[in-house]
Amino acid sequence: MPHTAGRHFLQIPGPTNVPDRILRAIDRPTIDHRGPEFGRLGAEVLDRVRAVFKTAQPVVIFPASGTGAWEAALVNTLSPGDRVLMCETGWFATLWQEMAGRLGLLPEFIRTDWRRGADAAAIEARLREDKARAIRAVCVVHNETSTGAASDIAAVRRAIDAAGHPALLMVDTISSLASIDYRHDEWGVDVTVAGSQKGLMLPPGLSFNAVSAKAVAAGKAARLARSYWDWGAQLGVNKTGYFPYTPSTNLLYGLREAVDMLIEEGLENVFARHDRHAEATRRAVRAWGLEIQCAEPTHYSSSLTAVRLPEGHDADAFRATTLARFNMSLGNGLGQLKGRVFRIGHLGDFNDLMLMATLSGVEMGLRAAGVPHKAGGAQAALDYLAGNA
Ligand SMILES: *Cc1c(COP(=O)(O)O)cnc(C)c1O
Repeated sequence: MPHTAGRHFLQIPGPTNVPDRILRAIDRPTIDHRGPEFGRLGAEVLDRVRAVFKTAQPVVIFPASGTGAWEAALVNTLSPGDRVLMCETGWFATLWQEMAGRLGLLPEFIRTDWRRGADAAAIEARLREDKARAIRAVCVVHNETSTGAASDIAAVRRAIDAAGHPALLMVDTISSLASIDYRHDEWGVDVTVAGSQKGLMLPPGLSFNAVSAKAVAAGKAARLARSYWDWGAQLGVNKTGYFPYTPSTNLLYGLREAVDMLIEEGLENVFARHDRHAEATRRAVRAWGLEIQCAEPTHYSSSLTAVRLPEGHDADAFRATTLARFNMSLGNGLGQLKGRVFRIGHLGDFNDLMLMATLSGVEMGLRAAGVPHKAGGAQAALDYLAGNA
């Protein structure tokens, strides 16, 4: 491959661009994970990461991708044959539901058209019907990365409470944590699932379960087999800052830096920045005359936008053109959306000029690939950003 000048634009909705501060933090010798220096690092990181989840309860950290934390959430709390209520918001919800089935659970799937978030009223109706209280958990993907639709988790909590149902609430925040407002304690979430490589701005390789006392108590009676993912082994030694097996030491250095950066900017400012970039992106899409995959404006995602291509045009061919011509990676369509949509990631370590470069690349790519559109999308975003500090 010949050298390509300038930097690559990684505008997929995760993994995201890793800022220099985090790269520098990770760039250190690996230390003894049983030694005193590690104990201080572990204790500090386990304590301080909780602020990002808005929880005072423990956060378990696994050396794993987000998928591992999905599995950990299920196997630590449930027993073979347990019913779980899940919402088909898109591809990631589908994968989690398939995993539940493979683990020996009985998932019930509330269907959608992949163009909106979870339907809290449908969850409430199903829980009210469940007089026997056979449903043991409600699982929702906060930000569905395949469609760009975010679900209202506070509304899901209210739905469970209105039905008077004891089911656990588990939420996948892999592409929303540290990008979109999220409150583990206030919303009464029992297990929050997260990963390192999206809003947290880290390379892939860490995953998280924020856990409630109710989830830990459910785990005492849960009978699904668990070993690597066992919270019990983690929570015990975590008290002293250590882990039961070798942790991703260098990624924990990076996590410490990421938490510092998020707190320095202020979480509320981080969320407002993501909201603003998402709004600018949607203005560009509308000006191009293209359709946003999320059809429900109150569910628009602030961390990514999925854009539908006109009938007869292949989104993957368009993405191949933007990569070849402009050295930019855009997200692909997943599952039933393969070839139908492309996804613009606007999350993580990101600012106005990075967004403008991204949208300019999309607009040039649409032209280069011969996708019918109107000019002026990047201009519409620029007008919005310049007028809204
Ligand atoms: C990325 C993502 C996953 C999968 O995470 P991995 O780290 O690839 O295992 C799951 N759910 C959502 C919502 C995601 O965005």
